Amino acid sequence: MVWLVAQQRLLTQDRLIKMNITTVNCCFLCGDAEESHSHLFFDCYYSRICLQLISDWCLLQLPVTECIHWWVKWRTPELSRKKIIAMILASILAHVWFSRNKCRIEGYVLRPTVLCRMIKMEVQHRLNTCVIQSQNRRVLDWVHYLQSA
Ligand SMILES: [Zn+2]
Repeated sequence: MVWLVAQQRLLTQDRLIKMNITTVNCCFLCGDAEESHSHLFFDCYYSRICLQLISDWCLLQLPVTECIHWWVKWRTPELSRKKIIAMILASILAHVWFSRNKCRIEGYVLRPTVLCRMIKMEVQHRLNTCVIQSQNRRVLDWVHYLQSA
């Protein structure tokens, strides 16, 4: 999913227009701009709200832009703080795309707080099911916080 976002290969409205599949381009989530990868995942106020809510939960300031580049750069084999952040960013992207598709199909937008609750649950599930091998006390404390917050 994240790889598709990085390659701008998801079927966003701007791509569908180029394929002559649709003639209308309006972001399903905000209705204020044309839908493209950069708008949907980085500029849309809906995505920005989600990113801020998750940033607050993580006690971090996640990058508003270029998070894809962070994800690609931070795919490391060991469970590190960066890898956890990359996992969180991937979950945000996947859920924003899920919310966009849900709106397109069902005609209503999930509230950002609802979507962020889903993101938190997914991240917590992943943290609870992965083997934590980090020797870094700060990373372990942060993981325990995320698992319970
Ligand atoms: Zn939008």
